[in-house]
Order: sequence, then structure tokens, then C-alpha cells
Amino acid sequence: MQGFDKVPAGPALAHQKAIVIGGGIAGCSTAYALAKRGIAVTLIERHASLAQEASGNPVAMLYPKFNSGASMLSALAGNGFAFTQELLKQLKTNEKLFQLCGQIQLAFNHSEHEKQQQLLNSPANNTHLFQLCSAQQASEIANIPLSVGGLYLSDSGWVNPTLFCQALTGSALIHQLVSNQAIQIEQTDGWTVTLANQNRLNAEIVVLCNANELPQFEQSQNIPITAVRGQVNFFKANRISHQLRPVICSQHYLSPAVDGMHSIGTSYAPNDLNPDLSSEDSHANLQALRKMAPSIFASMQSAAITGRVAWRSATRDYMPLAGQLIDESLLRKAPPRYNASPSDLPWIKGLYVNAGHGSKGMITAPLCGELIANFISGEPLRLESALLAQLNPSRFLLRALGLKQIAQKLYDF
Ligand SMILES: Cc1cc2nc3c(=O)[nH]c(=O)nc-3n(C[C@H](O)[C@H](O)[C@H](O)COP(=O)(O)OP(=O)(O)OC[C@H]3O[C@@H](n4cnc5c(N)ncnc54)[C@H](O)[C@@H]3O)c2cc1C
Repeated sequence: MQGFDKVPAGPALAHQKAIVIGGGIAGCSTAYALAKRGIAVTLIERHASLAQEASGNPVAMLYPKFNSGASMLSALAGNGFAFTQELLKQLKTNEKLFQLCGQIQLAFNHSEHEKQQQLLNSPANNTHLFQLCSAQQASEIANIPLSVGGLYLSDSGWVNPTLFCQALTGSALIHQLVSNQAIQIEQTDGWTVTLANQNRLNAEIVVLCNANELPQFEQSQNIPITAVRGQVNFFKANRISHQLRPVICSQHYLSPAVDGMHSIGTSYAPNDLNPDLSSEDSHANLQALRKMAPSIFASMQSAAITGRVAWRSATRDYMPLAGQLIDESLLRKAPPRYNASPSDLPWIKGLYVNAGHGSKGMITAPLCGELIANFISGEPLRLESALLAQLNPSRFLLRALGLKQIAQKLYDF
């Protein structure tokens, strides 16, 4: 992968303006990547500050999930993990922003154990990023007793997403417009974005990073996206739990103590819009903790449990949405032949999406922000074209219209 800080700020871009809608990690990463190339960005966020929705948890785990075989998800996880790490190290930082304290992905059942073994035997799959460890080795690494081993990723850890968003948006080229909601986008000479207070902003480029609100705009109204409720619980660290060093993951996760608190996550409930903490979910998180780290569970029986609810935005194929939009009405009006050239498609000039990051936004959103900046600036693309095609936000539309062949080769110009 190309070194992040070697991307030149193209002089042709310096006069351009972009509007990024949504101030979570996707919007902030995109704003950062654009500003780095000299593009002036207005970042619109409806809340009074950045990172208030899915990106508002106190800690997010860097949790790349690999599988054997040549899977696109695995390729994205490897590239995204490397990119986020590189970016974190380049941001002006302090120890509260992130810690690469390591991560153990437990072989928590037979099927997971088998998958981990297969992964080790498939050399194409990021095997340099992890090592297999026994229960005893895992316990030594974790500094607490664990009953099973698994994969150890020494370069993984956790990030504070709010501090991450703040660090990404410190550039003088990024103007934060918080407490403002975008209600309409219209193609004019470039783009005009209307805010709820009826103010209008103009720019050559608009990037939609508004997660579950993507369908609110006419141009993106039919992109299939699902809100998935997640509840994370918190408890105060004690003498025993404080010893935990890395992040521990099963289908859930347990963080080491961060600012004196542990996070246990998380439930996964598609289309559940209940904003209140659920005692069933707290119970499920605690049961997961009991299985992952029995000694910590035993040590915190009477501890107060708090929590937070938020919604991921998920796609049907679990790949994010990143790239330029294609005009749905023009495509339906005059569908191209199944083997037409992608360059003949009705691409919408200047309109991009970075959304749909599901449970893995820390791994995928920064890389997708960089990809969008690659597209806009005409730089060489960082990922192979087949993987880029799998990320395009109009892929579901193309598939639905029987244009699967074009959907797979969108960037083979
Ligand atoms: C409980 C839970 C635990 C998670 N744990 C992890 C983890 O450990 N590791 C990990 O990698 N990922 C994790 N995730 C997933 C990760 O948090 C998300 O993938 C990521 O935060 C998505 O970022 P985003 O910017 O796309 O969305 P969001 O953070 O939701 O940001 C979208 C923003 O757009 C704004 N917006 C929407 N419409 C408008 C509009 N019209 N005008 C202005 N602003 C608008 C919203 O207010 C919001 O701030 C977790 C998610 C949840 C819910």
C-alpha cells in the first residue's frame, strides 16, 4: 500500500470545495483525506459535536476479521487494518487516542477453532498479522487466565473514536458546521446543499457520510441499508480486571481498562429501534464476559453496569459503500447492454458515498475516505479494481437490473 503522507496535493484540486454530510468516523476520515489534498471541506453534522451516533462509544476495537479463501471481506479487512494503523500513527496523538495493546480473537467454539486453523494454512490471507496461541500462551499474553487460545494480533488494540474524529478534523481547510442538518442536495453547476435553516451551500463535490440517513436524499434513496442496534456495557475496573492487557474478542469483546472503565460489547439487532438500555442485552454481554474472562466476571459481581445504545448501518453483503454514485433514473430509463463499458454508465458527477460500515467502521471507514480522495483527485487507486467494484454504492442497483457483469468490472476502464 502506498505511504499515506506521500500523496501529493494536486494544484488542480486546491481551488475545489467539497461538502461532507455526517460527522462520524466516515465523514471525518473523508474530510481529512480531502483536506490533505488541498480541497476546502465543509463538514455538516446535525448534532452539536462530532461522533455522537455509532461513532460515539468511548472505545472502538480494531477488530479485523479474516477468513480463509480469497474473500473480498478478508482483503478489505487486511488493507483497512493496515491503513487505520498507519493513519493513527501519523495523527498528532496522545495515549488516550489509541493503544495498540494487542488483541486475542478466542477460538470460542469448534467452528471458530476450525476457521482459525484453516486461516493459518492459507498463506494468502494476512498471516503475518497474527499468530496462533494456546490457552496457556493466551493467558500469559492477556495477563489473566483464559480457558481457550486463539489468534493473537500484536498490532491491534483500541481507539477512542471521538478523539479520532477531532484529530482528523483539525485542519484549517475543514470548516465544521455542527448543529446543522442537510435536508436536500441538488445538482446545479456543481452541487447545492440546503440546510434545515434554509441556508444553502455550494461546492463541486458532495460526499454522503450520513450512515442510516442515506435514503433521505433522492439520489441515494434506494441504497439498501439496515440500522442494526448495538448495546455496549461498561463497568469500573478493579484490582483483578486492571491486569488485563489486550482486547479479548469472541463474538463479543472485552476491552482492557481505559480511563478506569472496561467496555463489553455488543448486541446485534437489525431493525430494532429501541433507544433504551435493555436488561436482556446487559445480561447477554455479561454472560459473554463470563465465558471470555471468568476471573474478571467473578471479580465484578456487584459492580454497577452502565451502557450505551447506538445503531450501526449495515449492507446486505457486509461490505461498506464507498465510491461515486450512478444515476438510478437514467440507468432505468436507458439500461445499457449487459457487456457495456462502465465508462458509458450515467455516473453522477461530484457525488460520492462513504457509509455502511456495519460493525467494523474503525477498520473500513478511514480507508474508504482515502479511496474517495483517490477517485476525486485522479490518483492511482489503492485497491485492486475487483475489490473497488464490490464497494461501489450503486452495486445493488446494477445487480438488480441484471448488470452483474458490469457491477464486477466497474473500474476496469
Ligand atoms: C454498539 C456498537 C459498537 C461498535 N463497536 C465497534 C468496534 O469495536 N470497532 C469498530 O470498528 N466498529 C464498531 N462499531 C461500528 C462503528 O461504530 C461504525 O461502523 C462507525 O461508527 C460508523 O461511522 P459513520 O461515520 O459511518 O456513522 P455515524 O457515526 O453514525 O455518523 C453518521 C453521522 O451523520 C450525521 N447525519 C446523518 N444525517 C445527517 C444530515 N442530514 N445532516 C447532518 N448530519 C447528518 C449523524 O448525526 C451522525 O453523526 C460499533 C457500533 C456500535 C453501534
